[in-house]
Amino acid sequence: METLLVLAFVESDGSLAPSALASVHTARALDQALGNPGYAVGLIGERVETALSQLAGSGVARAFAVTGEEFAQPRYATDSAAAEALARAAGATLVLAAGTLRASRVLPGVGHRLSGRTDTHITALSVDGGNLSVTRWFYRQRIEGIYLREQRPWVLLLEPGCSPASTYEVGDGPALGVEIVSVSVTAELQRTQVTGRQTPPADQQTIRPDAELLFVAGAGWTKKQSDGQVRAGEAERLILDFLHQSRASLGSSKSLVDVSGEGQAVLSCLTHLNQVGQTGSTPRHAKGLSTCCHGEEPHAVGWRFIRERRAINLDANCGWARGKADVLYVADAFAVMEKVNALLENRTC
Ligand SMILES: Cc1cc2nc3c(=O)[nH]c(=O)nc-3n(C[C@H](O)[C@H](O)[C@H](O)COP(=O)(O)OP(=O)(O)OC[C@H]3O[C@@H](n4cnc5c(N)ncnc54)[C@H](O)[C@@H]3O)c2cc1C
Repeated sequence: METLLVLAFVESDGSLAPSALASVHTARALDQALGNPGYAVGLIGERVETALSQLAGSGVARAFAVTGEEFAQPRYATDSAAAEALARAAGATLVLAAGTLRASRVLPGVGHRLSGRTDTHITALSVDGGNLSVTRWFYRQRIEGIYLREQRPWVLLLEPGCSPASTYEVGDGPALGVEIVSVSVTAELQRTQVTGRQTPPADQQTIRPDAELLFVAGAGWTKKQSDGQVRAGEAERLILDFLHQSRASLGSSKSLVDVSGEGQAVLSCLTHLNQVGQTGSTPRHAKGLSTCCHGEEPHAVGWRFIRERRAINLDANCGWARGKADVLYVADAFAVMEKVNALLENRTC
């Protein structure tokens, strides 16, 4: 019998982010697969009322919380003290949490304090004969490993985007009672102060893991076009306009970010962080649209978790046409995106 706890950090507006709701969804499925009587949730934040109302109807058996303004800040000392106290209060043998930056920074240390083990980037959980095994990728997503551990507590950081945020209606169920766990917040725990947040303007923040759509720009955007001209400025305007209107995440091929780095005709909105592929990232989005990108294997391998793929390319024999995309539009991406942006601008909803 396992005692299962989902840990979640409450957002500054008091709610739970989609990644936290997804970890609750995973815990619920795991709890049922293990044949357990119910799982617990542990919330950390200044206030937890809104988060608790989001969890009504989620099948949570017990809710614990560490609250207070000291716990609003994403600060290692207070976050780790709160997470440790919650795990001890729940008597957890399994601790699940979304692998956000905040949780990833803190929970491996918490696992150590609990004399347990921590595993990160978990993409799936399965139960066989009452034994839990976990799945994660190794060696830049080339090797998939499935393993189990005897050591408890076992802290698992779940890769965001691998399960749906929830399958229950938010607030659809009886109100949850909460057991407040007290943590002594000494001056030493508060030596670090988070004094503010600096985030780039929305149009510069182009990597959006929660976006429904991945928009990928390839090197074709900076190549000579049929009029003999390089139209990089126009390309950048079209891409940023589309991102602004669609809130899609921006990916790139290696060729395009390489020329940007070499100071040639560039798209200044791109860096190597945008690169998708074998030596780039492997993002998870429901849909992907590739533009001016050939769809070669070292690039397309980064699309393995994109469920619906479309591409726009002038070349009907490009890589996307060879089974790598669901739909290929053989067309000029400049013309298509101009039209798409105009349609988005005129949409009524
Ligand atoms: C070990 C190794 C690792 C690699 N890792 C990666 C990786 O992580 N990510 C990655 O992306 N690549 C990677 N590559 C490189 C990869 O093989 C390709 O070279 C690269 O992806 C090509 O980028 P591209 O498709 O943008 O450019 P190109 O191959 O130059 O293709 C440009 C495309 O744009 C189209 N085009 C031009 N104008 C238009 C227009 N107006 N409308 C529509 N289409 C147009 C052209 O038809 C062409 O198909 C790796 C290679 C190696 C050897």
